[in-house]
Amino acid sequence: MKTNEGVQLHDLQAIGSQGFEADVFDESIKVALKARGEAQEQLFEMARAARLTGFPDRRAEIRSVVEISNICKQRCNYCNIGSEGTKKYVIPSDDLVDIASFLYRERGRRVLLLQSGENKDKQFVSNVIRGCALIKDKMPDIQLIGCIGNLSYEQYREMRQAGVDRYLLKIEASRPSLYEAVKPHDKWAERRQCLDDLAELGFLVGSGVIVGLPGQTEDDLVGDLKFLSDLNLHMVSASVFIPGRGTTYEHMPCGDVETTLNFMALLRIKNPTALMPTTSSLEKLKADGQYLGVMAGANTVTIHDGTPQALQHLFPIYDEHRYRPNDDYLRAIVERAGLRLLA
Ligand code: SF4
Repeated sequence: MKTNEGVQLHDLQAIGSQGFEADVFDESIKVALKARGEAQEQLFEMARAARLTGFPDRRAEIRSVVEISNICKQRCNYCNIGSEGTKKYVIPSDDLVDIASFLYRERGRRVLLLQSGENKDKQFVSNVIRGCALIKDKMPDIQLIGCIGNLSYEQYREMRQAGVDRYLLKIEASRPSLYEAVKPHDKWAERRQCLDDLAELGFLVGSGVIVGLPGQTEDDLVGDLKFLSDLNLHMVSASVFIPGRGTTYEHMPCGDVETTLNFMALLRIKNPTALMPTTSSLEKLKADGQYLGVMAGANTVTIHDGTPQALQHLFPIYDEHRYRPNDDYLRAIVERAGLRLLA
């Protein structure tokens, strides 16, 4: 077994190559996940070189998030969105249009991520679909990304018909038993089917995993990398595990930021043309974490400026004091990393 100091560049180069035996590939990934210091720098450099082949103009995407609702029918072990006792809200479709118009006109946004807890309720989904159709009617050049979890094929079809361009559905863990351990009210096979349905319906699909989940092994991360890369996704992501306050996993340790950054670099090497966000979870655990995410190959930043201020505390991701980086800060880190931010 190699030590961190023993990591060689050729170990890392094997990752981006085709034709390696499966066990050689797996070992290279494990070595790369442990890279620190100079070896980690080399890994990040390879990731940035891969990004340059996929995005020769060095552009990065900025997107605003609108957190449409905190009602969630799941109860994942790490997440406290819509937990018992929390006041619930749904942003009506007409308000969604007003929010989108404001972001479009005043902030120059052209990409909106519409996110909510998972809720297949007919009335709720119809509200979202109506809002999307109105937004696309008024601002046809806006890109809409749906992110409201598992829905039926018919609901996805209606969303696509309403003009939603992309859909983000994180697999979180590619091993079914791990997925179902951390999301005990969901079935992995259903999630997997949803990814196929979305691709079949013509969405540009995104997915991602969480690094550091309780019970996750090195082999799981190798499997996650293969799973995401084999899907030929438009958007890929990796976030570092941070348990929400009051959840089953509240007292579990957070994931390791360096391993997460290394996983992001590997994702980039395997997916040169995909959009990949640098997440606020990195910044929450490490100063300059989001900048390091861009240095590890990310090219997307997400701004939580689409949810009305009065509702923001009702949509916690890590805790009620969610870290929400602002526009200027994110622009600065992207430029510092040598990328150009598009609206
Ligand atoms: S992670 Fe998503 S599906 Fe799970 S409880 Fe949180 S909002 Fe609901």
